Amino acid sequence: MTTVDHLRQVRLGNLRTVLLALVDRPGSRADLAARTGLTKATLSNLTEPLLANGILVEEPATLAGMGRPSKPLRFHPDGPVAVGAEINVSHLAVETLGLDGETIRRHLVPTDIRKASPDDVLDRVAGLIREITGDSGRSLLGVGLAIPGVVHDGAVVRAPNLPKLVGAPLAGGLGERLGLGVELDNEANLAALAHLWPRHLAGEDFVHVSADVGIGAGVVLNGEVYRGVSGFAGELGHVVIERDGVLCTCGSRGCVERYAGLDVILREAGRRRLDSLQKALEAGDERALESVRKAGEALGVGLATLMNLFDVPTVVLGGSYALLHEHLSAAVRSEMDTRVLAGGERHTRLIASPLGEFAVVRGAAGLVTRRAVQQPERLFA
Ligand SMILES: [Zn+2]
Repeated sequence: MTTVDHLRQVRLGNLRTVLLALVDRPGSRADLAARTGLTKATLSNLTEPLLANGILVEEPATLAGMGRPSKPLRFHPDGPVAVGAEINVSHLAVETLGLDGETIRRHLVPTDIRKASPDDVLDRVAGLIREITGDSGRSLLGVGLAIPGVVHDGAVVRAPNLPKLVGAPLAGGLGERLGLGVELDNEANLAALAHLWPRHLAGEDFVHVSADVGIGAGVVLNGEVYRGVSGFAGELGHVVIERDGVLCTCGSRGCVERYAGLDVILREAGRRRLDSLQKALEAGDERALESVRKAGEALGVGLATLMNLFDVPTVVLGGSYALLHEHLSAAVRSEMDTRVLAGGERHTRLIASPLGEFAVVRGAAGLVTRRAVQQPERLFA
């Protein structure tokens, strides 16, 4: 590496440090210097192009105590934004997210896309993205696209509920329609990422599990989503809890999904939709309560296996599970308490996701803002 290359790398590293500090919270140059360990001169030097390019803004001076007035720096309210998009069996969703982690606009459209061709789906997603970005005048950093399937090397390799998406050029197709870079990832991984970036909502080590047609889990270790060698990590839905149990769509038997998937819960409760199930639960309907309790037991057994393999302290119930949390968690808790070995050392924390139905699309947008902060040269591209 030449000296020039080396200096450039050092500068990008420092820039990353400053941006990460600002994602955490705004701060004056003096405050940022104290938080990052950089000198005030280096800080001024680093923030100057960020201010000139409209990525940061300097707020009016405020008098802090006896000292000199400080002028906090923060991400510019009209600065660049990332786009998140989600293709799901039962809905499409889009969101714009600023570098400061604030959601700008979002939109979720319930729709059944099982019969649609990949081109039709991409046309609709591109249309929704144009709707929420069209008149903002803000520059776009790129698109994160969430898929209910296994993604490896930028392609969908397995999508049992949307088989038409397997092998389709989704990132390229959407990128061409919008003139933007598009990155593809699995919905469960992105829902987990949304609890990690830009804010840690569940610590640095946790499992995020959610149910839709299938069950998806994102395993987070040391602040990173663990994907496995070929993208198949976290397939909690296909962990076997009954060796000769119910036949599963994956070809195996007794998978967690066959006992705790949302379609199973609804069928056992005699309900067609989640909102109807929620009403029945609130009204104390015995059949609905029993259905959710049985699903919770199955989920707890599967989660205990995951806990015994990865020894993480926290489980986040997301998606539909977050909405059913009140009636689901006692059964999950009870199974985990008797089966998780580390339970003797410490109680596993079981929490409901605070992000609701927008966790996946927020994670998809977060994928883009996180990359922009980690590779700050992208902000000047
Ligand atoms: Zn299975």
